[in-house]
Amino acid sequence: MLTLTWEPITLQLKNVFRIAHGASAQRHNVIVRVEEGVGEAAGVAYHGETPERIIAWLQTVRLAGDPLHLVDLLAQLPQEGSRAGRAAVDMALHDLWGKRLGQPLYRLLGLNPDNAPSTSFTIAMDEPEAMAERAAASGMPIIKIKVGGENDEAMVRAIRRATDARLQVDANGGWSREQAAAIIPRLARYDLQIVEQPLPAGDIEGLRWLRKLNFGVPIFADEAIKTPGDILAHAGAVDGVVIKLAKSGGIRPAVEMIALTRALGMQVMIGCMVETAVAVTAAAHLAPLCDYADLDGPLLIANDPFRGVRYDRARLVLPDRPGLGVTEGE
Ligand code: MG
Repeated sequence: MLTLTWEPITLQLKNVFRIAHGASAQRHNVIVRVEEGVGEAAGVAYHGETPERIIAWLQTVRLAGDPLHLVDLLAQLPQEGSRAGRAAVDMALHDLWGKRLGQPLYRLLGLNPDNAPSTSFTIAMDEPEAMAERAAASGMPIIKIKVGGENDEAMVRAIRRATDARLQVDANGGWSREQAAAIIPRLARYDLQIVEQPLPAGDIEGLRWLRKLNFGVPIFADEAIKTPGDILAHAGAVDGVVIKLAKSGGIRPAVEMIALTRALGMQVMIGCMVETAVAVTAAAHLAPLCDYADLDGPLLIANDPFRGVRYDRARLVLPDRPGLGVTEGE
């Protein structure tokens, strides 16, 4: 049997993180270890995943076999239950695999780290002037603005005035069809690169309708995309999808979903939850496969105990240590 352990971790956010779903100043994740491999579970609130449920699922996991037989070990994971928990064990198994082979994960996947797209930097909802100050102070060249509230146009206008960064907006499902059709062309005047999840997850026909209105801004689905079947269902309804390890259930399913998205002629953004350098570095190893990256989790956290992917402004610098390449402490 391989040794599987876990410990809850409380993350303090630098700023209150307010999006269309709600607001938080703390997040509760679970760090998972399989032998010397490490992973992280960030419960997806809109999946109803709490740390307690993640741990209850972890208690059902039994892993036996050679760490180099990664596919065999992944096949031992229960298919039902916590996707975030599954993602954490999948990350830890990939980390263990890379450590035993003495190679960084991106190299085992045959990827060139220089092909990783730069990450966006998220500005959560706040007063428009406070958001604009934060955007300007970040100095980041790609800003993702959380919208889907009362003040969307004022927020985007203020940020546009404060920075010449490329702007993306993420409504987190906060608009109705009518609201989206009215606000997107207004926001598009501020030169948007992407509109993410304008409608509630599941309203695929609404997305198809919205896309046909052709506002000149690519529409991406995020919350709606958990499984390969979700990607198939969104083919033609959106321009791209956001893949996150916590939603897909880990690195292996994410690689498969990226390939499927490409095969269907759509673009891919690799995203993260509010997560430490463990989960975000795991995702960063897949960034060279993707068109866009939204991997700013560690930049939003005040007490991240881990070090992994580094940020040269927005450029992702992957660690070249074996496995995920994550270390604990300074
Ligand atoms: Mg999103």
